[in-house]
Amino acid sequence: MTAVFPPLREELRGLEPYGAPQLDVPVQLNVNENPYGPSPACVADIAASVATAASTLNRYPDREFVELRTALAAYLSRDAPQGITPEQVWAANGSNEVMLQLLQAFGGPGRSALSFAPTYSMYPEYARDTMTTWEQGHRESDFSLDLDAARALVLERRPSVVLLPSPNNPTGTALPPEAVGMLCEAAASYEPGGIVVVDEAYVEFRRDGTPSALELLPRYRNLVVSRTMSKAFALAGGRLGYLAADPVICDAIRVVRLPYHLSAVTQAVALAALRHAPELLGRVADLRAERDECVAWLRGQGLQVADSDANFALFGTFVDRHAVWRGLLERGVLIREVGPDGWLRVSIGTAEEMSSFRGALTQVMATQTTYRDEDRS
Ligand SMILES: *Cc1c(COP(=O)(O)O)cnc(C)c1O
Repeated sequence: MTAVFPPLREELRGLEPYGAPQLDVPVQLNVNENPYGPSPACVADIAASVATAASTLNRYPDREFVELRTALAAYLSRDAPQGITPEQVWAANGSNEVMLQLLQAFGGPGRSALSFAPTYSMYPEYARDTMTTWEQGHRESDFSLDLDAARALVLERRPSVVLLPSPNNPTGTALPPEAVGMLCEAAASYEPGGIVVVDEAYVEFRRDGTPSALELLPRYRNLVVSRTMSKAFALAGGRLGYLAADPVICDAIRVVRLPYHLSAVTQAVALAALRHAPELLGRVADLRAERDECVAWLRGQGLQVADSDANFALFGTFVDRHAVWRGLLERGVLIREVGPDGWLRVSIGTAEEMSSFRGALTQVMATQTTYRDEDRS
């Protein structure tokens, strides 16, 4: 018998699996889901598509998911004046799997991945799981990037993968195209070079005038733009993430992907959902308006709020954020205790849910000394 059981990799011992607490409360504003479910017509189409797929489930699915790549390319082409071809598209079970595959192909022992904190807490986990060294720079106090410092860090550390969420989670901050271009150039300037992954999980929620990095694809062949159907598309349960990049990058991922990683059921569900894109995305405009209202209301309470291009807002700062989080939970509102110390993140829900959130937060702030004195205005 070994002394330690199970005989895990040493760096994994004692670690907890990632994930927000899943609590059954009336108002769930903690994981940036779209609060609006699919319409009965969309549900019927998904069910019929799954029924069709079910009749051939004795066969393996299309390993190259050509029909789905074609549909995703058509969807992405709306944001890309140059157009996106199916060969430029790759997909997996959520964009988390897409990014893990990128690290499997482009990271690994002796290589590094880099991002700028505060940022998505899964990134260091992809690095750990692929035995890639994790490097981290920092954002400014307004959560933007100091471009010169960011470029200098990339040139110094020479990462194989740069992960840039835009809009960023948990801050909501979008990156200007100049930043993406500058870092693509920096990552192409050393041997053997790095890829730059712009994680656009929340991009459909961006404010007017904020462009997508898809427009930059013709200029930078080391650029990868990752997207998901989990947020704006209201399909978190369907598990479908995808990317657009140079076809040689998609071909490289095909080497590390497991055979038939996208089930016939997943492909059928995603294709049906894409046919209902206008409807599923129809509520995005409402959510953006609700977001802007929420940000303005929080500021009206004397709180700091990060500018947000996403479907959530990061606000604070509180002396004891956990007490505020718990106070909201006691009133049936679940948000997320995430980000720099003192800050909290609320996902944007329906108008009724946001009204519950405002009511609960007003009560919590009235009953506790939860402010930092210097933030009281
Ligand atoms: C939610 C989220 C994703 C999407 O994850 P899926 O695996 O596609 O559900 C990706 N990146 C960030 C930063 C996110 O917050």
